Amino acid sequence: MDPKLLDILACPLCKGPLKLSDDQHELICKADGLAYPIRDGIPVMLEGEARTLTVDERLDK
Ligand SMILES: [Zn+2]
Repeated sequence: MDPKLLDILACPLCKGPLKLSDDQHELICKADGLAYPIRDGIPVMLEGEARTLTVDERLDK
């Protein structure tokens, strides 16, 4: 994924910054505890498509 794309993306819920997951398959919003999927290199910025982070993931970093 283009790192520049990450700079302009923001969480659709809280407008906060997103973090690329370690496996680079998701964009994570720590504030909301959600992970937005990246499909074919395209981030899916929809709350309905987002995965809820596990407790471990929320505590990580
Ligand atoms: Zn958010």
